[in-house]
Amino acid sequence: LVQVFPVSKSGIDAMHGGLMVIRDVTDKRMSEQLKADFFANAGHELKTPLTAISGFAELLENGLVPKDKKDYYIGKILTEAKRMSTIISDILEISSLENKTTAEEVTDCKLSEICTAVKECLEPAASAKNVTIELSGDSFTVRAAYKHIYELVENIVSNAIKYNKDGGRVEITLHDVGETGCIYVRDNGIGIPKESLNRVFERFYRVDKGRSTKEGSTGLGLSIVKHIVNCYGGTVTLDSELGKGTLVCVRLPIVKNIME
Ligand code: ADP
Repeated sequence: LVQVFPVSKSGIDAMHGGLMVIRDVTDKRMSEQLKADFFANAGHELKTPLTAISGFAELLENGLVPKDKKDYYIGKILTEAKRMSTIISDILEISSLENKTTAEEVTDCKLSEICTAVKECLEPAASAKNVTIELSGDSFTVRAAYKHIYELVENIVSNAIKYNKDGGRVEITLHDVGETGCIYVRDNGIGIPKESLNRVFERFYRVDKGRSTKEGSTGLGLSIVKHIVNCYGGTVTLDSELGKGTLVCVRLPIVKNIME
């Protein structure tokens, strides 16, 4: 896409010539389109639980719910409200990622410390599903905002728990391979069908809305992961087999201590 601007007041004059600026606006238009799509998707995703909440609340208000079903409807309202709250938190997270990280926020992030903190935080959710989390390997350090690397690991590990089976396993392994640090998160959960593999990093994409709505998911987690990884010059790949499990691999540039 190009935009053409005649610079001289009278535009371009065949006799006297003129000056014209041609600017490629493809990227700008594309990012405007992405923003428009994002808001349309966000609006739709928020409207669905809101419609359910209003519907259930109206039924209760009009006394149309049998006594023995009241708790069920109240439970539904709370679940949908929680879902809206998760979507809003993820949207706020994305908008904070769009803002530039300040120099003070960037620090040496030790991956073993961050993974241990994430493991401790997600342990209750894992034990509720009878899932074990193991952490091993050699730690490495990246220069980044702590909150970004924490968020990155947390999103991947919480997926490995959410989409796991009862009694499943989550293995977090760290590898220092020279200038690159690798974080592997492997689970033996429900897996992802082949046709969805290259779509799971898209904003709001969920493999199966039914199964993931139950898990309180928004389809934003992996897009946040990808965004963070891109910000720090890394890569993220995902491999999965339906019914067998998933392996997510994040590669980030390592900070080496020059005194070493
Ligand atoms: P969310 O989990 O909030 O829906 P994500 O962007 O993190 O959003 O993931 C997108 C979709 O990819 C999920 O809805 C789920 O269907 C699938 N997915 C992600 N991680 C896994 C995993 N470890 N095992 C199976 N499915 C997964």
